[in-house]
Amino acid sequence: MAQNFDIAVIGAGPGGYVSAIRAAQLGKRVALIEKRSVLGGTCLNIGCIPSKVLLDSSEFYSKSSHEAATHGILFRELRFDLRTMMKRKREVVTRLTSGLNDIIQHNKISPFQGHATLTGQQGVQIQGRQKSETIHASHIIVATGSVPQALPSLPFDGRTIVSSTEALEFREVPPRLLVVGGGAIGLELGSVWLRLGSQVMLCELQDHILPTGDQQISRTLRRLLEMQGMRFMLSTSLKEIARRADALEVTLQSADQEPQKLMVDVVLVAVGRRPYTEGLGLDRLNKNGYDERGGIRVAHHFKSAIDGIYAIGDVIPGPMLAHKAEEDGVAVAEQIASGSGHVNYNTVPNVVYTWPEVASVGESEGQLKARGVAYRVGRFPFTANGRALAMNAELGFAKILASSEDDRILGAHIVGPWASALISEVVTVMEFEGCAEDLARIVHAHPTLTEATREAALNIERRALHLATQ
Ligand code: FAD
Repeated sequence: MAQNFDIAVIGAGPGGYVSAIRAAQLGKRVALIEKRSVLGGTCLNIGCIPSKVLLDSSEFYSKSSHEAATHGILFRELRFDLRTMMKRKREVVTRLTSGLNDIIQHNKISPFQGHATLTGQQGVQIQGRQKSETIHASHIIVATGSVPQALPSLPFDGRTIVSSTEALEFREVPPRLLVVGGGAIGLELGSVWLRLGSQVMLCELQDHILPTGDQQISRTLRRLLEMQGMRFMLSTSLKEIARRADALEVTLQSADQEPQKLMVDVVLVAVGRRPYTEGLGLDRLNKNGYDERGGIRVAHHFKSAIDGIYAIGDVIPGPMLAHKAEEDGVAVAEQIASGSGHVNYNTVPNVVYTWPEVASVGESEGQLKARGVAYRVGRFPFTANGRALAMNAELGFAKILASSEDDRILGAHIVGPWASALISEVVTVMEFEGCAEDLARIVHAHPTLTEATREAALNIERRALHLATQ
């Protein structure tokens, strides 16, 4: 007989597993279905976590190579061992995924392994390796995530034309790596291999990297990555790849120039991700179930076109970020359990884990101008921050945007050391609908990088305390 649950969650990435945990905390009987043999989804297995492990290892090596001497630390022979780096990456991932198993067990969630297909409003068929079974649930949450987007004319071959998944697994450092796409994933993985010795060239269709972010931040990051050796080809698209004896000949086309040919060893296509709904069967239940990108169309409160079926995370519109998927997960579980649950999408931070890092929240100057919103800007450079100087990490700045009308913070954009941690304070102030003046009057420990954010807030009224020129 089919097992019955209050909620069946399809997909055990950060959206799915978090919604399962929250629903279980609220007293629901929950099934969590995952087609992979491990829990954690893209984020834990082939996304956020492995990429950050390699970013940290490669940064350690890069700093040891290029900066240690300025601290008076000298190495006689500095080398790295890629196999050990990859082993450490696998160990971190395994620690997290097995920890997740414990959490699922602790919350008495029933895990199922297999590919889930919707059979009706309340039915899910699970095709495992050995057997197929059907379960029933009063509510179904779809959290099937996303997969890398290929270029239409250049399918992935897993070896020379690769996605982020393979770029996290290279067994050797590719001598010449072409990254296609100047978003977070391309910049992060490009940084990893650049630091380990690849010659990295990056082409981007737009005339700036991080196309959806603040342009001043984007220009600064490009300049800083160029100083590290990354080469950028902007307003440029990849036209063709021809296989030569032991390399790839790529043809690049920029807006106002003749096509340019380059020899490279590997092409990393990082042009975005697309929602994943293969074999899910929602379209058989309602032909309007999917949107034009193949993702799930949702109305208010994550409701799909079919009553009782909800969708969250990367498979629905919105930023494809793990923390956004998690917040969706909490909110949908609370919606189902109690009728209320909410995500404030205006305060979802966005981080690029290059060095220096980039972090932002809220609107950019470009977006505010396009909306005709009057705003004031306060900036503060890390060159004037004592802790950044102590760290030898003074490149970059913090920028706060506040409403001219009532001083509410509308956005913050940071390029600099540990921007990923610094943005959190601004997110908190924005969540409480605070003003730049609130941020400026909070006591910040000295000497810390956080003082730069405070000084940027002060500088909205040109009253930064540690700047010779305002
Ligand atoms: P996913 O994590 O994709 O999980 C979906 C799960 O559903 C998968 O495990 C899949 O196997 C399963 N599934 C799909 N269909 C079925 C089915 N029919 N039956 C059963 N199971 C199914 N985000 C950040 O916020 N910070 C970062 O630093 C960051 N770095 C990234 C780096 C890389 C290289 C990549 C690729 C992504 C990164 N992301 C990052 C994005 C982040 O990984 C995703 O936004 C996040 O994983 C989305 O969560 P999700 O639960 O919606 O989907």
